[in-house]
This record gives sequence, C-alpha cells and structure tokens, in this order.
Amino acid sequence: INYDEYLGTVKDHANNVIEYVGDKIGYFGNSDTLQPGYVWENHYYDEETISQLLTRIDTPLFPEDQVNKANIRKTYQENLKLYRDTISKEIDEPQVEDLVRDNGSNFNAGNAVPATILSLVRNEDLNELIESIKQIEEKFNAKFNYPYTFLNDNEFTEEFKESVRHLLPDEREVRFGKISEEDWNIPEIVDKEKYKQGIELLESEGVSYASKESYHNMCRFYSRTFYKHPLLKDIKYTWRLEPGVKFYCDIDYDVFKFMSDHNKIYGFVLNLYDSPQSVKSLWKDTRSFLQDNPDYINEEGSFDWIKENMQKSVNFNITEGYSTCHFWTNFEITNLDFLRSEPYEAYMDFLESKGGFYYERWGDAPVRSLALGLFADKSQIHWFRDIGYNHFPYTNCPNSAKCDKRCSPGSFTPWNDLEIENCQATWMKYSMTDDDLNLY
Ligand code: GDP
Ligand code: MN
Repeated sequence: INYDEYLGTVKDHANNVIEYVGDKIGYFGNSDTLQPGYVWENHYYDEETISQLLTRIDTPLFPEDQVNKANIRKTYQENLKLYRDTISKEIDEPQVEDLVRDNGSNFNAGNAVPATILSLVRNEDLNELIESIKQIEEKFNAKFNYPYTFLNDNEFTEEFKESVRHLLPDEREVRFGKISEEDWNIPEIVDKEKYKQGIELLESEGVSYASKESYHNMCRFYSRTFYKHPLLKDIKYTWRLEPGVKFYCDIDYDVFKFMSDHNKIYGFVLNLYDSPQSVKSLWKDTRSFLQDNPDYINEEGSFDWIKENMQKSVNFNITEGYSTCHFWTNFEITNLDFLRSEPYEAYMDFLESKGGFYYERWGDAPVRSLALGLFADKSQIHWFRDIGYNHFPYTNCPNSAKCDKRCSPGSFTPWNDLEIENCQATWMKYSMTDDDLNLY
C-alpha cells in the first residue's frame, strides 16, 4: 500500500463531504460498553401469527359503528383531561438508580456515549439556531459537552461557522458537513408531471409547504438519508435540534446514557396528529409492505396508537387506516441502530419507490413514527416528560422545580382549537405501562 496515496484519497473524499472538522476526532466515546439497544432478528412467524398480526394492524381501535359525534366528543374530553392531569403532576427526574451526572471535570473524556446534537440548517437559520444552541447548552450540554454536527445542502458560510463556534467552548467538537446533491435533490425516479399534479392537489387542500420542493427534500433526507452521512459514521445517538426552539428545564443527567442504560431506542416530547392529506397513501402503501414483509412487524408494536380512530376520526378515514399520530421529530433522540436495521432500511427503500415524498408530502415524522410503531417494542420508546420544550405552536411543559417560568405546566398550546391535535393521551393509554407512567 502506498500510504501517502491512500491518505490523499481519503482526505480528498473527506474534503468532499466534510467542510470543516474540529481537531478533536476520536472524542465521540466508546460503543463497546453500550447496550446495543436495538438488534434486528428475524421472527420467522408461523402462518397463524402472521395472520393475527395483519388482522391487528387492519382493525380500527374502536368499532366503526361507535365512531359518532357524541363518542368523539367524549373521547376528546377524556383525553384532554388525562393529558392535563398527567402533565400537571409534579415531577422531577426519571426515578431510576443509575442517572449519570456531570462530575464537574472533563466529563466526556473517555466513557461518553458516541452521540451528537444534530442539526440540518440553512445559513439563513443562523439567528434562530443561536437561540436554540444557547438554551440547549444552558439546560443540558454545558454539563455534558456532547459534540454538535451541522448539515446543510449548501456550503456553510464563514459567518455561520464562526458564529456557532463563538457560542461554544474552544474545546468543544463542532462539525460542519455538506450533503451531496445526490442525497438531497429530488431523485430521477420521480415523475415530474405526477409530482406537479400532486402538489396542485395538496395546495388546493391547504397542506403547508406542499409546493416547496426543498421541504420535500428535507423530509426525505430526515427519513432515509441523514444517518448515512459520513459525519455520523461513528455516531450511535443523535439529538435533533432545530432553529427557534425553546428548552425550559434543567436536565442534570446524561440523557444519552439514560437511553443506552435503559435500552431506549427513541426519545420524544410531543405527540401529534398530522395533516392527513399529506400522507394520504402512506398507510395503504405501508400496509402492502407489511403484507410482503410480515416478519418485520414487532408483536409489541404500538398498534393501538396507529389505529386510534376516534379523536380525529376524519384523519383515520382520509388515510384509510392511520390515526396520523406521530412523534414530533423536530425533537428526537434516536438510536441510529434502529434506522440502520434491515426493517427500517427496507421500509425506506419501499417508500422511496412509491415516490410519496414528492407525489404527496410525506413527513419524516409520520414515516419515522410508523416505522417505530410497527418494528419497535413500545417499551423502547420514551416520553421525556421532564424535558420542557417548545417548537411553535406546541409545548411540553412539566410541573417541575427544574423548569423556568417561561412555560406554564400542562399547557400544550395557547390556541384552544389546536388542543385537539394532541395525541399524547392516546400514547399514554395504549403504549405506556403503569411502570412507564410512574417513572417520574
Ligand atoms: P417545520 O418545523 O416543519 O416548519 O420545518 P422547518 O422549516 O423548521 O425545517 C425543519 C428543519 O430542516 C429545520 O432544522 C430547518 O432548518 C431544516 N431545513 C428545512 N429546509 C431546509 C433546506 O432547504 N436546507 C437546509 N439545509 N435545511 C433545511
Ligand atoms: Mn421547525
């Protein structure tokens, strides 16, 4: 081997994708000591089990003849009360023995989790991003020193990089990466005429961002591509951060360690209904994927949450079988092993072949949520009740002494007519055990 040449090739390649790299590579921690969290093993279900599973995912949670105005109203009131009662209960941290705390010095030197705070952003998002970084640093990361990774379909400007660096301690690892055109742009297989017609329909139905191609690119990227970026090669957990979000409460333990030590593959804070027009064929297509790949289905999946057809029965009807409940992915802490697994990747390839990221406006949130609801054990999905968070127009605000006064406990949104968009109660009822509910 000609090492110089080899090194040259590697560096050339790196230059294509890594615009700027801090000088502390090798600081991301060590996977060897971690629980795998998610390992895909084929279930090899027998015929009868397959037929039972498919029946479960075909059966609405409530019998269709019970879905009427009175029951919708009743369920909604019940859900609202359950949500408010739960979230206004005073809590502190997860009640487990092994929370890992900041020991005051050099926390991340050796045994940290290979994790990063991850943000896909545009240069013009800088000011709002700065607000998000300041808050996540103040409430969490100044104690734990996890690195940041910023991705962009354009080159980051010097101003952007300097401004971000300036916010953070010198020794903090910060990576800026570019997304290749191939990974970002609309793929060849998309029929341009069909795309145009799809958009026109969605526009007429008032679906937001329908005609914004970059938004479709973004949703597709966050669904099926981001975790393959070279900058995330050695990363096992990502905490997604968006510009303009707020963090209200001190987080005094290492949430990545918590995820790893407690075998969680996904952490979320908000759980919502989606715009059903944007995912009109997603469930139908998913259903046919499951027909061909029943072994991917997890018997402990969150089926009832997917099949809930009361609070927003109209969503369930438009999508022909999906509640549209989803984790709001602008906040998500993800074990990438799950995304890198056979079921997830096969599902992504299938969805890509259907073109729905463009013909409709499939969001990464419903896509990720269906994958989790179908292929993951619900006990591996964690509601971080203690992380006070806002992304306009929704808030997760616990009643905790760790929270500052900017949010009022229990308030989900200031707009009454948006309360119905909250699907958290459904998650609580059908996907959380008593132990989960009593964890805080
Ligand atoms: P919303 O939360 O659904 O309203 O969508 P956002 O506009 O917040 O976009 C979601 C995330 O993707 C944010 O972190 C944005 O900064 C990022 N994003 C959206 N569109 C683009 C884009 O065209 N290029 C880049 N680099 N980032 C984008
Ligand atoms: Mn956003």
